[in-house]
Amino acid sequence: MTAEYQRQGNIALITINNPPVNGMGLITRTAMVDGIQKALSDDAVRAIVITGAGQAFSGGADIKEFNSPKALAEPSLHTLISIVENATKPVVAAIHSVCMGGGLELSLACHYRISTPTAKIGLPEVKLGLLPGAGGTQRLPRAVGLKLAVDMIVSGNPIAAEKLATTALFDALIMPEANGEWMPAVLAFADKIANLRPLPKVRDLTVSHSDYPDYQAFLQTARAIVGGTSEQFPAPLKCIDAIEAAITKPFDDGLQYERDLFLALLQTTTSKAMRHAFFGERAASKIVGLSADTPRRPITCAAVIGAGTMGGGIAMNFANVGIPVMILETDPDALKKGMAIIRKNYENTLKKGKLTQDKVDQRIALITGTLDYAAISDADIVIEAVFEDMEVKKTVFKTLDNIMKPGAILASNTSTLNLNEIAASTKRPQDVIGMHFFSPANVMQLLEIVRGEKTADDVLVTTLALTKKIRKTGVVAGVCDGFIGNRMVEQYVRQAGFLLDEGCFPEQVDKAIERFGCAMGPFRMSDLAGNDIGWAIRKRRAIDTPEMTYSKTADLLCELGRFGQKTGAGWYDYKAGDRKAYPSALVDNLITKNSKASGVARRQISDQEIVERLIYSLINEAALLLEEGIAQRASDIDMVYLTGYGFPLFRGGPLFYADTVGLKSVVAAIEKYAQGLHGEAWKTAPLLARLAAQKKTFN
Ligand code: NAD
Repeated sequence: MTAEYQRQGNIALITINNPPVNGMGLITRTAMVDGIQKALSDDAVRAIVITGAGQAFSGGADIKEFNSPKALAEPSLHTLISIVENATKPVVAAIHSVCMGGGLELSLACHYRISTPTAKIGLPEVKLGLLPGAGGTQRLPRAVGLKLAVDMIVSGNPIAAEKLATTALFDALIMPEANGEWMPAVLAFADKIANLRPLPKVRDLTVSHSDYPDYQAFLQTARAIVGGTSEQFPAPLKCIDAIEAAITKPFDDGLQYERDLFLALLQTTTSKAMRHAFFGERAASKIVGLSADTPRRPITCAAVIGAGTMGGGIAMNFANVGIPVMILETDPDALKKGMAIIRKNYENTLKKGKLTQDKVDQRIALITGTLDYAAISDADIVIEAVFEDMEVKKTVFKTLDNIMKPGAILASNTSTLNLNEIAASTKRPQDVIGMHFFSPANVMQLLEIVRGEKTADDVLVTTLALTKKIRKTGVVAGVCDGFIGNRMVEQYVRQAGFLLDEGCFPEQVDKAIERFGCAMGPFRMSDLAGNDIGWAIRKRRAIDTPEMTYSKTADLLCELGRFGQKTGAGWYDYKAGDRKAYPSALVDNLITKNSKASGVARRQISDQEIVERLIYSLINEAALLLEEGIAQRASDIDMVYLTGYGFPLFRGGPLFYADTVGLKSVVAAIEKYAQGLHGEAWKTAPLLARLAAQKKTFN
């Protein structure tokens, strides 16, 4: 049952019941149409109320259906909406909790709308690269006026019903009784309007823009705001075009215009990429082979070891969601410094007006510093963020093993070290897991969750739930050097180095990849993270994997002490108090000299070659990760890059992008580069070769 039908006296009550958010998939739509027809043919029914069961009126269309014939199968959302609007008995939408997307579009076709004051009302389609395609762009402006409609549709952000109280959207806002009872008031409203005729319809209203008499100038300004990114993200401009049609065209023509724009957007790569990311986020929290009823361990207090760059940010994540957290240091000065940085971070947020003083005080009060292990022994989870050194980490984990209460989760923030080896230094490897935060840890959305050989299922499930609680995107990775993100980025940075040897300069490479859409090119990224990190990795590799080749330029740069922004110089020059990267004549000279010393004739390299070599190196390594089972699914890898590495959302992540290019073309390019100067870096991953040969895709 996805929509329940009941008679309450003279009122027919149709309750959408399709958990979790009452999405309007085909079965639900069918049940609703049946309900309405039943009510219309029952002479005893004078009015119809539509509401939602559980925690939503309706979250909207069922977007899982977007790629299937079910989306257009009858009764479509359009058909349902038209049946409601043309019903000969009054239909009342009784809105509570959440009323979004198709849910709001359905409500707008009802003759009356009542709502709880706190219900969240919105048309979020733009966030999936779409526009509201079931009348939302035509009816919402008629109900709330031009300005609010543009704000709501173009941003996609929901707003509380009470903020729309003065508009024609709601006929009444009704608070539930103290005991939570709401339906009696809803039925009383329906009873009151049951005999009123004619039935009011939003479609008959005109769009109010009295506060903007020159509506065209207003729309022009709105277009200017979103126009800059419209090539990558076309939906916001199309939303404005559709809203304009609500003013300029008769209702039915506007509806058709909206429909045409919707169908065109549905086919764009941007919308497909955004929907891929939407589902990828949800898929990432599902672990193949783990049963849904795996119990979770309670997490009510946390501890962090190390108050350095990462430790402080990690602790803030817990305080931000109300979980008390202790930070343990061995060095009192480091503790003092770490706590001061946390305070400063919160004060900056306060200055920007993003938090109130009260909230800042509450959060800071939840973070306690300590030098004593005994103080943290009762924590439910402890996250180690000390120096990246196996011996130091093992000593810390041995101590944790001795003092932490049984059942505590022991997590490490290591970026490269072998988690299984860390776990083996304890007598409870089942409780050990990796939580690889990204810097700044209080800001970055990604959290790689590293599942060790012996990590217990309930530890994994608890960590995933905690990740959600602290509002991060969690992606599970197996144990390997660099996990998902950094293992791939190493190949990308390696190619960037080779490009310098062969003819590029840092700015050319960065600009090409930034034009592709990445937030930052590889050299600006390295300068931000610190070039010494890669230097240390290459020194280790020289011993562990001597066959791995690199450009020498990065080592030469580090020998000059040019570690990046933190030393005021790296691939670029920096000025005090300015994060802008200035191309460096010294570095360009170093690069040219190195090419000469290596006997390489420098050549002109196209942007296309730069992008292919960088992005395809990511794709090839990703295919290896998938085949090795380090990553569970292609979309997990895409989520790592979208949320942790500034990969452009409109391209959907490296593997989604590979699918759009066509795997055959990717393989052909890789084979071409394998014949080139640094061909040793290109060995087509078997999975990639297989998928290309079978004309398949990653997703
Ligand atoms: P950091 O040098 O800024 O901080 C490390 C802190 O640990 C220092 O304050 C130090 O006093 C403290 N410490 C050292 N030994 C300790 C011990 N035995 N007990 C308690 N405290 C001790 O380092 P960081 O950049 O915060 O890195 C910490 C960990 O996070 C490393 O494993 C690193 O690989 C990982 N990581 C770093 C980044 C990054 O961008 N910095 C990103 C992801 C992961």
